[in-house]
Amino acid sequence: MARIAIIGAGLAGLYAAYRLEQLGIDYVLLEARAAPGGRIASAGRPGAGAADRFDLGPTWFWPALQPQLERLIEDLGLHRFAQHEDGAMLVERSAHRAPERMRGYASEPAAQRLFGGMQSLVDALCAHLDPPRMLLGRRVRTLQLAGEQIDIGSEGPGARDTMNADEVWLALPPRLVARDLECVPALPATLRRQWAATPTWMAPHAKYVALYERPFWREQGLSGEARSLPGPLGEIHDASLPDGSAALFGFFALPAQLRRSAPEAQLRSACREQLARLFGPPASAPSADFIKDWALEPLTATDADGEAPQAHADSPLATAAEGPWQGRLRGIASEWSAQFPGYLAGAVDAAERAVSALAARERR
Ligand SMILES: Cc1cc2nc3c(=O)[nH]c(=O)nc-3n(C[C@H](O)[C@H](O)[C@H](O)COP(=O)(O)OP(=O)(O)OC[C@H]3O[C@@H](n4cnc5c(N)ncnc54)[C@H](O)[C@@H]3O)c2cc1C
Repeated sequence: MARIAIIGAGLAGLYAAYRLEQLGIDYVLLEARAAPGGRIASAGRPGAGAADRFDLGPTWFWPALQPQLERLIEDLGLHRFAQHEDGAMLVERSAHRAPERMRGYASEPAAQRLFGGMQSLVDALCAHLDPPRMLLGRRVRTLQLAGEQIDIGSEGPGARDTMNADEVWLALPPRLVARDLECVPALPATLRRQWAATPTWMAPHAKYVALYERPFWREQGLSGEARSLPGPLGEIHDASLPDGSAALFGFFALPAQLRRSAPEAQLRSACREQLARLFGPPASAPSADFIKDWALEPLTATDADGEAPQAHADSPLATAAEGPWQGRLRGIASEWSAQFPGYLAGAVDAAERAVSALAARERR
């Protein structure tokens, strides 16, 4: 029996496992997808190395505001660089009018990116874990309290499995827990409702990334940043690597429901057309381009995530305040962070709170 079972190997689950490994506390990490990372994903041209990857999920972090994440990145020996913002930005009010050129503004504090993409954070954490403790392709379906232990029922390729642990840490978004996990006995109804009502940050969104041989927009004094009303991309940024390939990326403004009904080839050509309207003809011919639609990922989004919330939701309760599940089940995914709910830094914060509380209990 494991001391702790962590469900979900996104940043929160991987960080919790990394810390338990450091503390010598027994754990097992169960992940439904075939690979770890969750909402973190980076991609490159076929055959490109880790240095030439671009983010399809999270891109930025803010060391000045998020020192705990910054420390982790330093401890793992990863390197960061500032988001490129030099130059003018474009504002497109109509597809039939030339975009307006405006003074670009520098974000404060400056947003930072990782060399190798955010995936390098996943890779570095995984390198510190004991491989047999991470079980990939195992989708947890049931949690049953059986005296001193919790029986964890999961489905994997071709097989159902049950294992047990003292405590379960939920490193998956609260909404997925409410939709997918059957708890026996049932969780308090108010807690389940609260978790079901907590939006999963960025789950309704999709990104388009286009790679080029050189950042030609900079030659026109443009930063690569743009806002557009006609779309399909609403917000566009430079995604180039300091010494590598040039790239632009954009968030779709088109809602998830409309994206779902459009063939990917059609979306791709609409994005290329839009980038050419904004940045000139070379933008219509990227050397590679990618679309990642997180709303289509059942291990990230639910039907309730169709519409994007305007702001980060307040974090819900992380555990039952009373009853048999109190202290046996704890939410550690990013949405449970009171400080940075929904952010990468929130995943580290929520997981660290669980690890610190456990370490304090073990010392007593
Ligand atoms: C497009 C996009 C852009 C973003 N941009 C930024 C940014 O610039 N900066 C920033 O700070 N944050 C950003 N975010 C948010 C950031 O990605 C998240 O805060 C962070 O990755 C959450 O990590 P997590 O481990 O809490 O959850 P997740 O990454 O969602 O991990 C949950 C894991 O649980 C697994 N799982 C689900 N159900 C089960 C089950 N039943 N059994 C087992 N495993 C299961 C999933 O497969 C997944 O691996 C962005 C997100 C997206 C999608």
